[in-house]
Amino acid sequence: MPADPESPLSTSVLPTDTGLLMHQAVEAAAGLLRRGEVVALPTETVYGLAADAFNAQAVAKVFAVKERPSFDPLIVHLPTAKDLESVAVVSDELRPVLQKITDAFWPGPLTVVLPKKDCVPDLVTAGLPNVAVRVSKNAVFRRVAQALGRPLAAPSANRFGRISPTSASAVNAELGGRIPLIVDGGACLCGLESTIIKIEPAQPKALITILRHGPITAEELKAFGRIEKKRQPRGDEAAEAPGQLPSHYAPSTPLLLPERPEDFVPQHGKRYALLSYRGDWQDGFVGLTDWAQIQILSPGKGKLPEAAVRFFYTLRQLDELGVDAIVAEPLPEHGMGVAMMDRLRRASHGSLHP
Ligand code: AMP
Ligand code: MG
Repeated sequence: MPADPESPLSTSVLPTDTGLLMHQAVEAAAGLLRRGEVVALPTETVYGLAADAFNAQAVAKVFAVKERPSFDPLIVHLPTAKDLESVAVVSDELRPVLQKITDAFWPGPLTVVLPKKDCVPDLVTAGLPNVAVRVSKNAVFRRVAQALGRPLAAPSANRFGRISPTSASAVNAELGGRIPLIVDGGACLCGLESTIIKIEPAQPKALITILRHGPITAEELKAFGRIEKKRQPRGDEAAEAPGQLPSHYAPSTPLLLPERPEDFVPQHGKRYALLSYRGDWQDGFVGLTDWAQIQILSPGKGKLPEAAVRFFYTLRQLDELGVDAIVAEPLPEHGMGVAMMDRLRRASHGSLHP
C-alpha cells in the first residue's frame, strides 16, 4: 500500500539473533507473504522488499510501496536452485553452461535473465518475455522463501531511484510506515545489488553479457564464457537492461565525481563531504578542502570488497549531513570497483557543482 500520511502502517522490526527469534521472524514473514502482503527481508546483497512472485496483487503492492514505475521489472528469488524451471524456460543448448554457472555461483549474488514461463505475472517482468532469477545465500531469506515454498519477487527495499538499504534501520528510514514487517538480519554481506547477466549459447564459448555490474565480477565470470562488453542501451534496447537508467541509486545531495583531485575546485562558502576510498593524503582528495565530514570506505591499503560493504551505508550517512555536495573519489575500476563506479556515475548523473 502506498504511504498514506493520514494513517501510516505500524512497521514491526523483528530480530533474528537467536534460533527462537529467527524462527518467529521467519514464521511471521511467511505468514504475511501467504496473505499477499509485502515484507522487507535481508539478502547478501541489499535488503529486499519481497512479495509472492505468483500473486500479481502482492507484486503490485511492491511497486506502490516503492513508487517504482511499472516498466522496471523485479528480480525473482527462488527457494532453491532446483526451482529454476518453475519460472524460466531453459533450452537444451543453454542448459550445460547455465548449469555450470549456477553450480558455481548459486546460492549467491548472481542474477540470470532467462525466457519466462506463463505462470510469472507480466507485472513482475514489466511485460518483458524474460524473467531475472537468482537464489539468495542469506540464511534468513532462504528460510522465508522455503517456508513459503514459492518464489519471491524482491527488488531493493528503497523508494525508487534512492540509495539501496544495507541494514534494517536503512529500510525503516526508506519504508517505515508503509510496510507491516522488516526482518532484521544485520548488515548485508556484499553491500551491492546482484550482478545481472544474460547468457547466449555459442561455440566454442558461451557469450555472457553483464547487464548490471555487481559482487560477481567479470573476472570471475570469464571462466564460463566470453564476456560481452556492456554498452549503454539505446532506444528500445533499454528494455533489455531496464533499471539501468542514467540517474539511479542517488542520494538527495548532489554527488560530484571528479576524475582527478585537480578537477575539484571548492567554492567559497559551500560545505562539502568526502567519500574517500582509502583516506589517503598523498594521492587522494583528503587534503583538498576543509571537509564537513570524511567517510573512508577501506582505510589503509584499500580492499574493494570491504569498500562495497560500507558503500551504501556511508553514502547514506553523508546524505544526511545536509551539505551542498558529496564529493566521491574515483575507485580502482577492477573487481567490485567496477560496480561501485557504475553506481557513483549514476548517482552523479545530472549533479552540477553547487
Ligand atoms: P533491484 O531493484 O535492485 O532489485 O533490481 C531490479 C533490476 O533487475 C531491474 O531494474 C533490472 O535492471 C533488472 N531486471 C529485472 N528483471 C529483468 C528482466 N526480465 N530483464 C532484464 N533485467 C531485469
Ligand atoms: Mg533497486
